[in-house]
Order: sequence, then C-alpha cells, then structure tokens
Amino acid sequence: METTVNSDSELKQETLQRKKQSGYRCLGKQRDGNYSLCVGVPTACFSAAQFRKISDIIEKFASVGHFSTAQSLIIVGIPEHKYYEAKRAVLDAGFEIRSIGKDVRQVKSCTGADFSPFGLQRTMPLATELEKMFRGLPTPMKFKTSVSGCPNCCANTKLNDFGIHGTVDGWKIFVGGKMGASPVIAEELASRVQPDDVPKYLAAVLRVYNKEAQPNERIAKTISRLGFETFKANVLSMLNTPFDDLIKSAKDAYEKAEACNCIG
Ligand code: SF4
Repeated sequence: METTVNSDSELKQETLQRKKQSGYRCLGKQRDGNYSLCVGVPTACFSAAQFRKISDIIEKFASVGHFSTAQSLIIVGIPEHKYYEAKRAVLDAGFEIRSIGKDVRQVKSCTGADFSPFGLQRTMPLATELEKMFRGLPTPMKFKTSVSGCPNCCANTKLNDFGIHGTVDGWKIFVGGKMGASPVIAEELASRVQPDDVPKYLAAVLRVYNKEAQPNERIAKTISRLGFETFKANVLSMLNTPFDDLIKSAKDAYEKAEACNCIG
C-alpha cells in the first residue's frame, strides 16, 4: 500500500480498497459524507497534555470526539477537504491511528491492580507489552485482545478473541469469544499463567489461528470447526516455539500501515 493519494476522489477509492486489507487505518466515510479518524494510545490512558492536544484537533477539524467500546477516541465529523490535515495533525501530535482491518487490534484493558480496588493483577504493563509485540500482525479476520485485572472482567474478557483476567495466582486465558450478530462466549484455555508466560500463549494461539482458519474467518468459527480440544492441543504443542518471527511480522505490517497514512 503506497501513500500516493492526493485528491478527494483518490481518497475515496483508496478508502474503498483498503477496507478489506490488514492494517486498514481509517473509518472512512460517514453517512453524512464527512470522515472519521479512530485515534488511540496504549491502555487508553490519555495524559492531561494528550487530552489538550486532541481537544484542539477536534475543535479545529471535527464536530465531536466519541470514545468507542474498544477504548479508542473516534474523531467524528471531519469535512472531506480537511481530512488530510486532520490526519497529519493526529500523527504529528503523537497519537496512533487505530486499525479497523484484518489484523491484531489494540489491546483493551481495565486499570487493574494499579488503580482498581478489586484488581488482582497489574493489567497495564501486560496490555502494553502484548500490544507492542503483536499489534498489526495480519490475521484472517479481525483479532481482539482484552486484559482484565480480576474475574469481574470489565474489559469483556470472554467476548474477545483472546481474553485474560487476573486471579490471585496468575492469569486465566480464554479464546474464541466475540460479539456481533452471533455472539460467542470464549472458552478457557489455561489458568494460573504467570505474566511473563502470557505472550507465548498469545503467540501460539495466533500461529494456530493463522494456519487453520479459512479466509475471513473469526477464530470462534475456526475453533468450532476444529473442536475446542483439538484447537487447544494444537496451541499447547506450539507453546515453546519461539515467536520472534511473529513480532517482526507484526512490526513490519504495522510500519507499512502507518506509512500508508496519507498526508496529502
Ligand atoms: S475487571 Fe476487576 S480490576 Fe478490572 S476494573 Fe473491573 S473490577 Fe477492577
């Protein structure tokens, strides 16, 4: 994907073409003809300075900012002729433009033991680590990850492709959850997992998913086709496989997608 578009009509065509690709970074056209940008920071913890910056951008280019259920801030109502300038302002201010394509999305997390009185494990360092490792890795369909600090699962652990929640003796890991027209509750893959071991579970799940899934298939469907016990056995057999290759692929794909953020 090249950063070549420089007119509104080309932007429309590029937007349509990108919608089905991994790393797609633009919400595209709204019903009213304006555009939106989906902006984020890791763990969704905005500093006061970041709120000031994003407020200035919203005031200058858009109508409102909307916090999505995936913990992104969607800048809504950008007129077409201001789109490139708004996008450039977001990137120059140090924010990320979130993917809505077929890849590993940003990690959703609650505040966990750092702030929540119920937290049993620290969510934010782990969520940040998982995001840095795997975000942007191309997958057969979108892949959502969430991290909750206790069994209350405020980050919707069991409704994500890979969800974890803290317990007194480690993390419980669930796979295959999703929302949509046919919601699925994730199944438990492992328990008492220590923080340093969580990335290797996610790596193994992604490896099996990328190998076994049919095109455009969410992992819930893949698990349903294979059977959970078969899927789990495949994942466990991959647990000790080094995953530097996945980290590199994710980084390469993310950088390519970022480079594609047109500045006009
Ligand atoms: S999941 Fe637990 S730790 Fe996280 S916000 Fe909810 S109650 Fe607090």
